[in-house]
Amino acid sequence: MSFKEFNFHPTISAGIEACGYTAPTPIQKNAIPSILAGRDILGLAQTGTGKTAAFVLPLLQRLLDGPRKKVRALIVAPTRELAEQIHENIGMMGKETGLRSIVIYGGVGKGLQIRTLRAGVEIVVACPGRLLDLINDKALSLNTVEVLVLDEADHMFDKGFLPDIRRIIKLVPTKRQSLVFSATMPHEIRHLAEELLVNPATVQIDHDLPAPRISHVLFQVATAQKTSLLKSIIHEQEMTSTLVFTRTKHKAKSLALHLEKAGFSAASLQGNLSQQKRQQALDGFRDGTFKVLVATDIAARGIDVTGISHVINFDVPDTAETYTHRTGRTGRATRSGQALTFAGQEDGKMIALIERNLGKRMVREALPAIAPATEEERRAAGRENTTRYKPTSQKPATAGRNQKGRSRACSFDFGTRKPVQR
Ligand code: AMP
Repeated sequence: MSFKEFNFHPTISAGIEACGYTAPTPIQKNAIPSILAGRDILGLAQTGTGKTAAFVLPLLQRLLDGPRKKVRALIVAPTRELAEQIHENIGMMGKETGLRSIVIYGGVGKGLQIRTLRAGVEIVVACPGRLLDLINDKALSLNTVEVLVLDEADHMFDKGFLPDIRRIIKLVPTKRQSLVFSATMPHEIRHLAEELLVNPATVQIDHDLPAPRISHVLFQVATAQKTSLLKSIIHEQEMTSTLVFTRTKHKAKSLALHLEKAGFSAASLQGNLSQQKRQQALDGFRDGTFKVLVATDIAARGIDVTGISHVINFDVPDTAETYTHRTGRTGRATRSGQALTFAGQEDGKMIALIERNLGKRMVREALPAIAPATEEERRAAGRENTTRYKPTSQKPATAGRNQKGRSRACSFDFGTRKPVQR
């Protein structure tokens, strides 16, 4: 199937071409005809499936006709990164249409946002808090909105935004088209969708399943040895674009600094950064200045970088869904990617849950030849970990190397929780 079948206006087809999209992804195939027909949509799809273009393209088509300089579409997103990404996509796909969009979020001055609104826009992409602020300031009204999109609705709920969302919905005319996208469907979101959507078409793509082209690899490693393992893997596999996830902001920062000192081009993306620093880290990662970006889950929400070759779970995520979100950053759309997870023995239960969700076992890789942890690394790891690591092998990690320098130390079977000899 090609995009031609949707009969988009030539200005929009030009945008599709500029983005380099040749064929629609499954969610685009399924959602675009219904959205073009004016139907409400419940889209069950995670980031990485092409869902942004699935709603942006038909939205642009609708807005081509009708008045300009009126807020006719409102897209609400839970994080500024996701809002920026949607706004950027609109800019690329809608370049030739003359339609204007604005991105609105807090943490930056209001001045520019107010001036842009005054100049006139057709599309508003916004995070809930600042949007309500600007409405209170009378800088913006929603009473001309024709299309309302809620993106990553489950994260809005996670972040406690549902009361704000309900306030926003009340300010939008009842005669409108509504589109709700969510990777998961907790109770509260199902309720919201039922209230909001009229006779919706439901489009479900790989619900709860990670993008298909990712290979999943597991390293069993003591916390104190994770940094050495990371350096060794990045070095050995000549990784071009690697996103590393840590559990804490502090760890993201210190790990990125450590990698930088060790000669890797690395930056961190975590909540303690100013908006300008976050943007610098993201831009640098996008343009290849930084080959490694160390991030926390919250900071990495919604980041849109194509061509991420590897996602590394330096710390095992807290839920199987977080694993899906993290690893969805690689293997986006039509590319393939690798997800590597560093797990200690204490992570066994979570690995078993993740594997149940994946529907398969991750590939167990033996540790490469890495330096044993120094006393300092052991102490630092002890401070981070409440559970002390107990090696499953009788041999030290450096013993039993094969000819390629790979260790043959035994690994831990997270399914049965028994050690297996490799
Ligand atoms: P999303 O799920 O909207 O975050 O999109 C994931 C990635 O897929 C983004 O980097 C898009 O630029 C890319 N993408 C979206 N649609 C297509 C398509 N039809 N062909 C190739 N890449 C696409």
